[in-house]
Amino acid sequence: MSLLLDTVSYNYPGSTHGLHEVSLDVRTGELVAVIGPSGSGKSTLLKLVSGLETGHTGRIALDGEDMSRTPVHRRHIGMVFQSYALFPHLSVLDNVAYGLKLRKVATAERRQRAQVLLDTVGLGEYARRAVAQLSGGQQQRVALARALAIDPRALLLDEPLSALDAGVRGHLRDQIRAIQQRFGATTLLVTHDQEEALAMADRVAMLKDGRLLQIATPREIYEEPASRAVAEFVGLSTILPAKVADLNKLDLGFAQLAAPTGMRAPGTALHVLVRPEHIAADPAPGTPNRIAGRCGAQRYLGSLTRYDFEVPGAPRPFLAESARPATEAIAIAPEHLRLLDH
Ligand code: ADP
Repeated sequence: MSLLLDTVSYNYPGSTHGLHEVSLDVRTGELVAVIGPSGSGKSTLLKLVSGLETGHTGRIALDGEDMSRTPVHRRHIGMVFQSYALFPHLSVLDNVAYGLKLRKVATAERRQRAQVLLDTVGLGEYARRAVAQLSGGQQQRVALARALAIDPRALLLDEPLSALDAGVRGHLRDQIRAIQQRFGATTLLVTHDQEEALAMADRVAMLKDGRLLQIATPREIYEEPASRAVAEFVGLSTILPAKVADLNKLDLGFAQLAAPTGMRAPGTALHVLVRPEHIAADPAPGTPNRIAGRCGAQRYLGSLTRYDFEVPGAPRPFLAESARPATEAIAIAPEHLRLLDH
């Protein structure tokens, strides 16, 4: 089952907010994470795909079949919400079997299928319990089992981990991903947590102001962000204004650096992006792109220290990470300077 959004636009009545010409696909068995700041359109996108919101232009299709006029219950999509949305008066097993009951699957069969699903999410022994007796992480696994029980054409996960404690979150993230892969479920995950998106997804789609800025693998979106907005949202970085001085030479005002400038003409204004792990501490004199300065604020992270490296004349410090912070100079290899065109 594949999911396709083709130039989908939607405006909330009487407003200019919503989604603007969003095109993306989720291939069979793929997990695409949708990220973006608050108000970027993530929930709107999920509501349109599920059918909870209607009236968009463009096409939303499952396996080539246009769903735009299909009501929610006929789309056959499994949904998991941040708030679990389980039925408190039903047992764990009956929660999982609920969708099958609606689809008129016979009692014995739906109980058996629900039990198999509960075993899969590691909650087989909890079938007879009341959902209120389960922890948040367990309830979310019940919600996942319930969504998968109907053998959905696509799975929508709406901030499924954000109501949970940090410790539970990391573990459940791995579990959800493993189960999603085992079922080969075509999945759209919405999250405001870019780290969660990078860790779980096959591809990441970044929205801002209702527009899709980039869709790419986690590695590509981190290492080759298409724009400054993507670079700022995904991962830590230092972003500085610069000008092309000459072929493979950048002028940052406070320093001249070697960088692959490609076809850009001298004088072109742009921004340059540096990731913290690409900043070398105290390089030998004569190392290319060596910049002298001093260490500012430090945050001890165990195996690494994250620190600000202050350079006279620079508009902001470089954010760096290394085993030991730099004391007098840093260096950035030319290939690790990523140029962001305006
Ligand atoms: P996100 O989920 O990324 O936080 P939303 O999809 O909820 O973003 O919202 C996208 C934009 O649409 C925002 O500007 C938001 O204020 C607006 N919006 C959301 N719901 C409504 C609504 N019911 N009526 C009008 N505007 C809305």
